[in-house]
Formats: sequence, C-alpha cells, structure tokens
Amino acid sequence: MEPDKYLSNYIDGALVPPVSGAYLDNYDPSTGQVYSHLPDSDERDVQRAVEAAERAFPLWSKAGPEQRFNTLMRIAALIEQQREAFARAETIDSGKPLSLSDSVDIPRAQANFRFFATAAMQFASEAHHMEGTAANFTLRQPLGVVGCISPWNLPLYLFTWKIAPALAAGNCVVGKPSELTPMTAHLLARVCMEAGLPPGVLNIVHGLGPKAGQAIVAHPKTKAISFTGGTATGRHIVSVAGPMFKKLSLELGGKNPNLIFADCNFEAMMADTMRSSFSNNGQICLCGSRIYIERPLYEKFRDEFVRRTEALRVDAPLSPDSSLGALVSRQHLEKVESYLALAREEGGRILCGGTRPPMEGPQRGGYYLRPAIIEGLAPTCRTNQEEIFGPVVTIAPFDTEEEALALANGTTYGLAATLWSQDISRANRVAEQLQAGIVWVNCWMVRDLRTPFGGVKHSGVGREGGNEALRFFTEPKNVCIKYG
Ligand code: NAD
Repeated sequence: MEPDKYLSNYIDGALVPPVSGAYLDNYDPSTGQVYSHLPDSDERDVQRAVEAAERAFPLWSKAGPEQRFNTLMRIAALIEQQREAFARAETIDSGKPLSLSDSVDIPRAQANFRFFATAAMQFASEAHHMEGTAANFTLRQPLGVVGCISPWNLPLYLFTWKIAPALAAGNCVVGKPSELTPMTAHLLARVCMEAGLPPGVLNIVHGLGPKAGQAIVAHPKTKAISFTGGTATGRHIVSVAGPMFKKLSLELGGKNPNLIFADCNFEAMMADTMRSSFSNNGQICLCGSRIYIERPLYEKFRDEFVRRTEALRVDAPLSPDSSLGALVSRQHLEKVESYLALAREEGGRILCGGTRPPMEGPQRGGYYLRPAIIEGLAPTCRTNQEEIFGPVVTIAPFDTEEEALALANGTTYGLAATLWSQDISRANRVAEQLQAGIVWVNCWMVRDLRTPFGGVKHSGVGREGGNEALRFFTEPKNVCIKYG
C-alpha cells in the first residue's frame, strides 16, 4: 500500500481537508525529500472537531464499557492485520529502522487499545462506609471532550497511549499528532472508520503546534489536555490551560542518568546500555544520556562501550541491516550537532561518532549522524544539564554511592533512571533516593502497562498508564447516602 500524498483530518467520522485548504510539507528523513503533505489546520478545524466530539459524547459515554471494549478491540485487531503497512509508514515518516517500527512501535500501538479496552472493563471505583451513619460511593464519570497531543519520537505508540484510555473511559477526543510524523495517525483514522467507531468519538486534526495544538488547548470545551512533548511546550500549555482550570497530564523532557556500579553483571549491563543510549537514535524520552560508572569499572566500560558503538550500523531505515536510521528532521539534526560543538567548547572529548556518515544515492540528503560518546565534562555544564534527545551520551566516573546519587539527581529533570548493581540492598537504597518517576534496576525499558508512568520535577505532572490514566480521564464524584 503506497502512502497517501495528501493527508486528511478525521472529523465527525470522515476524512476531510483543512478549512483553509493549506497544506504543510512532510519530509522523509532518510532522504530529506518532501514525500507527502499534511493539513495546515487552524482553530476552525479544531472548532469542527470539538463540535463533532460534543455531539458524539452522550451516546459514547453511555454506551458502557462492553460496547466500547468491542469497538476498541476491533481497532486493535485491524492495526495488527495492517501491521506491515503501519510499520513501513512509521519508518518512512520518522527515519527509525523498520525493525524497530515493526517490533516496538506498531505492536505497542495495538497493545494500547487492547490494554485499555480490557482495563476499563475491570475499572472499579471506591466506597467509604461511615458505620451506622451513611455510605459514600465514588462515581467516576468521563470528562466530555478531551485533547490529546503527542510528539514525533514514538508517533503512533504515544498517540494511542493517550487516545485509548480516553476513549475506553467514555470520553470523546480531539487529537493532534506531531506535524513531523502525521502518517500513522492518518492510517489510524482509516482503521477507526473500518472498525465502526461512531462519528465524532475520535477526531484527528493535523498541523502545527502553535496553531492547531494551541487551538485544542485553548478551546473552552476541551476539559482536559493530555500532552507529551518538550518541557518548554509543556510550560506554555500550563500558562494557557491552567487559568482555565483544565485537567492536565504533562509528560515532558528528561536527562536520564544510568548509574553503573562495579559489581554489576557486565554483559547484561553492556547490552542494555547500548539500547538505552542509542535505540531510536537516542530519541526516546526514557533513554539514558548521562552514564556514571563506578571508578574501578570505568576504563573497561569506556573501551567496550566505544568499541560496540563504533560497530553500530547507521543506514537507510528501510534497510534490514540498519541499527540506527536517520534523525527526524534537519532542524533536529542541526540542534544535536550544535550540542556536540557546545560539548567541545565545554572541554569534552568526543570518543567516537558525532559526524555525518557518507551516504550514497537518495540517502545523501538524509539526516544521519554517527552515535557519539563524550567524556571529560563537568556535571553542571549545559551538555550535561540540557536535553539533547539524540544519539549522544556523556560518561564519567564516580567514587561513592553518595556521589552517584548527587550526580543522578543534579538536573532539573526527573523522568527515568537506570541502576546496575548485584547488591540488592544498595539497589533498594539508591532506588528510593533517586528523583525520578521510573527507576529500572538491572534492566531498561521493561514495561508493564499497569504501572504509573511519568516524571517528577521538570519532566512532568501526573501519571499515565493503567488505572492512573483511567482516573485522569474521569471525574470522581462522591455520593453520600445517609441512613434513614
Ligand atoms: P514538542 O513539545 O515540540 O511537540 C509535541 C507536540 O506538541 C507536537 O504535536 C506539537 O505540534 C505540539 N505543540 C507544540 N507547540 C504547541 C502549543 N503551543 N500548543 C499545543 N501544542 C503544541 O515536542 P517534540 O519535539 O515533538 O518531542 C520531543 C520532546 O518530547 C522531548 O522533549 C521528549 O523528552 C519529550 N517526550 C516526553 C515523553 C514522556 O513520556 N515524558 C515521551 C516522549 C517524548
């Protein structure tokens, strides 16, 4: 199946052009060429989407979990059936290797629908008994129309991570995927139509953040905003939606530490550290970008890490041999390169990578970068404090547990942290003190969708996943019944 050249908005159950008639260019990062166009939507498209969602809400919210379960499971099954087409589209849009889209992004998108369809069937609310006096029970009712805004790094994976719980809980959604990676959301719209999702229950508006995204956030009828993206954008969204008293779930940036103690299982640690550093070109919010190693292991780790990193193959994302594809956009490639220049200015030594590999044929115009490891930087320098979100990590030794913790906690971010040690007491002690929403011990990216997902400090507010998401997308109402 060839991708559509002109993408559509999905409003009120139909694929429609933007009101303005204007389109934006969509680039293939592997070649740097425009290969399709997406609607340049504005507040008029959002208005139509919100109106459609409002019309759909009474029926969808009253349909009950079982009917919603059936529809969402059909969507999941159709994504699974069309997995190849979805994976290919995700890879062309984002530049990530096809092996990754096919094994992670698309399976997870369909799992999100299955998981939340099922979770909503099990979702229960609380009761509080006042002995001899009264009984309280909590109603958890859907909010109404909600906005879901997602980034480009895991396009369908994160878009559905918001949409699925919102719909399962009985809300109607106005969603916007990133303007850099709109293609799989467009395919999702087709799947929803095929699955018989009632018109208006899910609406997808494509376009730019400050225009289409802003209109969703500022619309008086969107009761909640679930946003994943950069911290600066999150701050802006708070400034718009906060004074309107909207419910907000904000999943923002990170600068995640990996703490590697000398007593770790070296092989297991090396394998996972390679993944946590360079999966999806480091463009995963959970990637570890500051790696701290206990001094006795430092040189052995550094030499092996450099050796394995140099062996990674940067190649066209559709090539089966590609371990790293292209970065998502020229602008992002240049941002990552600017941090490499900054790291040099700050006294860092680039041990490997950080240059554009020579590519051939159509790939010559693509946004490729060799993965880079930097040492010799102070923990407080900008390279170690600011999110780079690319195939760039810094390494440094530490001497004591206290020092390791101070280094790990020494940024404004607090999304995820990874620690490697065979000493269970130490692992518990350190995990307890790490300022992060997610701590992985002797592993990375092991995900149970029931667990709370999110960050502390400037990495976000609120949690996604499991019942946390269903609670976010419902309003609790206490009903108190006094005994006669
Ligand atoms: P971004 O903030 O630029 O954009 C994210 C989304 O917000 C896009 O759809 C964009 O169009 C939209 N947007 C931009 N300005 C807006 C505005 N004024 N109003 C409403 N919407 C607006 O982020 P990005 O570059 O797409 O994604 C990368 C960032 O996302 C990184 O910082 C990364 O750490 C973060 N991220 C966080 C998580 C997490 O779970 N915490 C997961 C993935 C990515």
